[in-house]
Amino acid sequence: MSLAIINLGDSHCGDLVGSPIKGDAVICADGTIAWIGSSSEVRPGEHETVVDAAGATLAPGLIDSHFHNSFGDYTPRQNAAGYFESYLHGGMTRAISASEIHVPGRPRDVPGVKALAITAERCFRDYHPAGVTLHAGSVILEPGLTPNDFAELRRHGVWLAKAGFGSFAHPMDYVPVVHAARAAGLVVMCHTGGSSLPDTKEKIGANEIIAMHPNVAGHVNGGPTALSVEENARIVSEGGDIALQVVRAGNFRSALDIVKRAIDGNCLERVLIASDSPSGTGLLSLGMLSLMAELASVGPLSGRQAIAAATGSVSAVYGLQAGRIEVGRPADLIVIDAPHGSSAKDAFSALELGDVAAVAVAITQGIVRFARSRNTPPPMRRVRVSDRGSG
Ligand SMILES: [Zn+2]
Repeated sequence: MSLAIINLGDSHCGDLVGSPIKGDAVICADGTIAWIGSSSEVRPGEHETVVDAAGATLAPGLIDSHFHNSFGDYTPRQNAAGYFESYLHGGMTRAISASEIHVPGRPRDVPGVKALAITAERCFRDYHPAGVTLHAGSVILEPGLTPNDFAELRRHGVWLAKAGFGSFAHPMDYVPVVHAARAAGLVVMCHTGGSSLPDTKEKIGANEIIAMHPNVAGHVNGGPTALSVEENARIVSEGGDIALQVVRAGNFRSALDIVKRAIDGNCLERVLIASDSPSGTGLLSLGMLSLMAELASVGPLSGRQAIAAATGSVSAVYGLQAGRIEVGRPADLIVIDAPHGSSAKDAFSALELGDVAAVAVAITQGIVRFARSRNTPPPMRRVRVSDRGSG
């Protein structure tokens, strides 16, 4: 299986400034990026599939670091099935579980949360709905979990944990448990802000976040209820390397405040853009793209910085191979462009004008999954996909 992408007008390698790749063509083979170079060196007839980008832009596929899966391609929160494909059509080629919190009747005891995380991790290890890769199995931190439990979870393949929905008497009680999870090598995301669910009554503020020191302050702009600007300031300035995950399902004013503070504090690499969905806010198949457009138009990000916060910065925080366009990395890619009718000239300037970029093509595991998004407007440029034999 080989795929050639040629005639790129621009690209974003996934780094923080959005450097272009060295060339205007990429070849993918066996699910990975195999070669980067010049279109003039590519022989289209040698590849099973050819994407003629016609001057459009190549970027890593978006990675949603706050995704609410349950099991299968079904979300109980919105009673919807087949939703992964909708997100893929919004440019999301990969997602990270925000814990299987929406599973009806979810367990709250130690053996139960361990079993739930292990089962979820297994269920999505080789199951790629619509071609999307989901890193599932995020253990919900509950009182009583010990370092031995975390070591056992790691042995069984679980590497994600979520703080914020456990039966702790006080949020500060999470501190030793989060530290033990991190010491065992789990990547911990913590709930930030007011309650999310009708059956929870918990606020996790700057004091608790700073004391826990999770890898990621999940929905740091609220999910959906935000912290005060004073607490935002403390999390940015005193939070060290804690990633600042801003989400579509949160408070936009707070997202703007946090991103500005991260830029002023010279720590933009900590900012991650995510959807926090499907959730009470709904199915947000364009959630990442629309928050990127808002933060790049009303907010201080450049279009390239907005894409970095949804690709390479996510993979750096979570230790993923995806999210960068380099030889040997997973071939999860999107061809994007200014949407038809936009006054922008390309995908980056479209975001800076507040237009949701058009997703022309999504590629996961080296396979073209569609040749025009059903959810974004069409691209300005005439991007074409041809399979060998079909002319
Ligand atoms: Zn959430």
